[in-house]
Amino acid sequence: MAATLAQDLRGSFRTGRTRPAEWRTTQLKALVRMIEEKEDDISDALHADLAKPRMESYLHEISLAKGACVFALKGLKTWMKPDKVPAAITTFPSTAQILPEPLGVVLVISAWNYPFLLSIDPVIGAIAAGNAVVLKPSEVAPATSSLFAKLLPEYVDNSCIKVVEGGVTETTALLDQKWDKIFYTGNGHIGRIVMAAAAKHLTPVALELGGKCPVIVDSNIDLHVAVKRIAVGKWGCNNGQACIAPDYIITTKAFAAELVESLKRVLVRFYGEDPLQSEDLSRIVNASHFHRLATLLEDKEVAAKIVLGGQIDQKLLKIAPTVLVDAPPDSRLMTGEIFGPMLPIVTVENIEESIEHINAGAKPLAAYLFTKNKRLQEDFVTNISAGGLLVNDVALHLTNPHLPFGGVGDSGIGSYHGKFTFDCFTHRKAVLIRGFGGEANARYPPYTPEKQRIL
Ligand code: NAD
Repeated sequence: MAATLAQDLRGSFRTGRTRPAEWRTTQLKALVRMIEEKEDDISDALHADLAKPRMESYLHEISLAKGACVFALKGLKTWMKPDKVPAAITTFPSTAQILPEPLGVVLVISAWNYPFLLSIDPVIGAIAAGNAVVLKPSEVAPATSSLFAKLLPEYVDNSCIKVVEGGVTETTALLDQKWDKIFYTGNGHIGRIVMAAAAKHLTPVALELGGKCPVIVDSNIDLHVAVKRIAVGKWGCNNGQACIAPDYIITTKAFAAELVESLKRVLVRFYGEDPLQSEDLSRIVNASHFHRLATLLEDKEVAAKIVLGGQIDQKLLKIAPTVLVDAPPDSRLMTGEIFGPMLPIVTVENIEESIEHINAGAKPLAAYLFTKNKRLQEDFVTNISAGGLLVNDVALHLTNPHLPFGGVGDSGIGSYHGKFTFDCFTHRKAVLIRGFGGEANARYPPYTPEKQRIL
């Protein structure tokens, strides 16, 4: 029987090739070079897949990917060092340490919305941690997927770092194989399929999933700054097709109209009077996602709640930034993750109620609050469970490599970014070294009455 890809790579991994710092550093430097030399190709691929504006491609994918490589290169030697820990009296005399070791052969399955960053970022950590790695980019972003298949073999060690392109069939075949870790980014439905497949081999998983990310907007804010930040975090992130884009706003009934007015002004400034023609707004990734989003707005009761936007262009696969107020709570818009340009506003009597509202749903990947009120900030930070929290901005927490990025509950398992990506692909091996002294007789049978007196 032909060896599987995982077996092939395990053969390479077992030669010890990926373990030395030099190999890891060489690969990471090659990735930096690839990003620098092929920046235009990467931008073009992202434009082909999503009509992603160049500025967004650079700010949200290319520069972050390069930053992750450089951060790993800087930290690598320190991260690889064993941690000396105190010896216990029970093992006297001895030395104890925790030795970071690569897990082995890992699989990265990536999503389409940030198809460059979401693929390369975990791969960087897998390499930094000394693993062999297979990347399966998303078939929903075909230009970026084929760019990876072309570029990675040109730049990195192809005996230990591979790209497999494909959709369900190819991914299912990969999932049948035994990996030492599977890192999956995408929706929770497929996340469950990945986890079930991994369970057959007792393979650990990191699942980077999504959810409905709420934004609480208090009236005690700098409204203009808040609305710019919300708008760029929603529509300036792939036109809402981002896992940490605001899914919905909660504000008070008294403040909603002022908020909508401000959103209207900012949207015209950002995208003009006809946003469907704006070059600064990504399109919907494909016809099937377009259809999914368009049908959310076809619901008559939902459509009646549109206060801004609502225009769609099937040919261009574009949907304008759309704001709704108090859409029916049981509509699909309000029950599932939107992952598109619609931003519903939920109104409450008192802003404090918003915490209870959020806690009544699944734990989101990110939750946001805009307020100058310190007590409300504290209440939010203490009482909301989410992958990450951000006060007075949106999405930017992901740019700090010192913060772990990942979900909790329905929004995911495990985290990465910065050193957390290295840790994600590392086994922290406990190592204890003893000499031959320090014999404690009570440990050995026969357990005589004298020995038992110590109990
Ligand atoms: P997708 O369609 O690209 O699917 C993700 C991956 O799963 C792809 O590589 C695909 O080939 C694979 N896949 C699809 N069907 C499969 C099957 N039946 N068996 C095995 N593999 C299969 O992406 P998506 O799921 O549409 O991505 C959007 C979702 O991902 C949203 O929920 C979003 O919030 C979430 N997301 C999370 C993060 C994060 O970092 N937490 C980032 C981006 C997106």
